[in-house]
Amino acid sequence: MSNANQNISLKTSANLTQIRIVDVAVVGGGIAGKACALGLAQLGLQTVHIAPDLNEFTPAPLCDQWGQRIYAFSPGTQQLLAHLQIWDALDQTRMQPVRDMRIFGDRGEQNDQLHLSAFEAGTPQLAWIGESNLIEHTLDQASRFQNKLDRISDAVEKVTVDANGVTLQLQTGDTIRALLVVAADGANSPIRSELGILASVESYSQSAVVANWLCTHVHLETAYQWFLPGGDIVAMLPLPNKQVSMVWSTSPENATELLKLDQAGWSDKFFAIAGGKITHQLGVLTLNSAPAAFPLRKIRAERFIGPEHNPKVALIGDAAHVMHPLAGQGLNLGLRDVATLLNILGKRESFRLPNDLVLLRRYERQRQGDTSALLWVTDKLKKLFSGTTGTERQLRNWGLGLVNRSHFIKQRLIERALGEVDFE
Ligand SMILES: Cc1cc2nc3c(=O)[nH]c(=O)nc-3n(C[C@H](O)[C@H](O)[C@H](O)COP(=O)(O)OP(=O)(O)OC[C@H]3O[C@@H](n4cnc5c(N)ncnc54)[C@H](O)[C@@H]3O)c2cc1C
Repeated sequence: MSNANQNISLKTSANLTQIRIVDVAVVGGGIAGKACALGLAQLGLQTVHIAPDLNEFTPAPLCDQWGQRIYAFSPGTQQLLAHLQIWDALDQTRMQPVRDMRIFGDRGEQNDQLHLSAFEAGTPQLAWIGESNLIEHTLDQASRFQNKLDRISDAVEKVTVDANGVTLQLQTGDTIRALLVVAADGANSPIRSELGILASVESYSQSAVVANWLCTHVHLETAYQWFLPGGDIVAMLPLPNKQVSMVWSTSPENATELLKLDQAGWSDKFFAIAGGKITHQLGVLTLNSAPAAFPLRKIRAERFIGPEHNPKVALIGDAAHVMHPLAGQGLNLGLRDVATLLNILGKRESFRLPNDLVLLRRYERQRQGDTSALLWVTDKLKKLFSGTTGTERQLRNWGLGLVNRSHFIKQRLIERALGEVDFE
């Protein structure tokens, strides 16, 4: 295969520098980076994984403490994690299957709602809700046993691309030479900027306040979402042990106010919004984690490979695209990038190196359609539900009811949300 995993010494005017040579360097220690590094090593590629926080393995979540970052995982993500031998190793008692989704409009009328059901769609579940640190812990454990994978706790400072590969200068002074670099370095991707890959960035002028709650009513394995007048969106996602995870998208000013609320203040809030339906549905809600707020943006990189004249770098995850969390799909989309890259590299012709232009172009082509469609839909939904004119209000609420009555549209929506991937 390649001449990877060698170390060579280069005499520079200042000192003797060690250069580490590998097939692939994955930069970024979020879930997308961890899953990608593991998958590439499983393909037999000598891989280094670089991020500032890799010196420690994520600890397993503690019994009755639930992580602050909770995600909806699509069946496509489940397929990728199963392919990486991660899914069966997850503590399934901490993963909540979602059988129904109920989405309510902002007029409070009976027909302004959409119900998606796993039973009607003929699928066991629509998604799972689980903790980020549970997935990261399990990925970290698997990476310990992968002898083609080395973790380096460091930050990339400089990226130089030439005809044969990429040289990465790390903050500690080390140098890595890789045939291919996978940039999983998040929404502000330093690698994307350094390669001059332009990205369109749009602030939603909203923040998402997240918190976990214990509820007195059973959640019926249902994910609820209420659109509120003025553009706020409150999602309550089911978790095991009669808990729900809240994602409340609101103005940054209101987010600051929400973060100051005590238990009594929150109870008043839930009574006051959505006509009291949140409390009616879930009962008394008791705070079970410290709330936190995240600014919301839409980002799309113009290219998913770079630099333009000589691509040797692939962008994945938030480095390539960031979307509003109203559909709970940002990470799922990033993990579809991972699945696509693994598929392409795993099936490459024996004469092609992992950084072959044909492969990178294949990757970019395959990811563009899925990304554009999902970014477009979430963006349009967000904007439609923020509109304040009477027509916009009527249109969105009427639209929910209309979709609800169409089995065909609902089936297509569910197929999209499942985001299934093929591994051969
Ligand atoms: C409120 C909220 C709710 C969400 N809910 C969902 C959901 O339910 N389902 C879903 O699918 N998605 C959801 N998302 C989206 C999801 O959070 C992101 O898409 C996902 O976390 C991105 O993962 P990532 O690995 O691409 O990037 P990140 O997790 O941002 O990781 C980036 C990594 O790069 C590293 N890095 C940065 N610079 C350097 C450098 N110079 N050198 C080395 N390393 C570097 C960082 O240290 C970090 O480890 C939600 C988002 C928000 C805000």
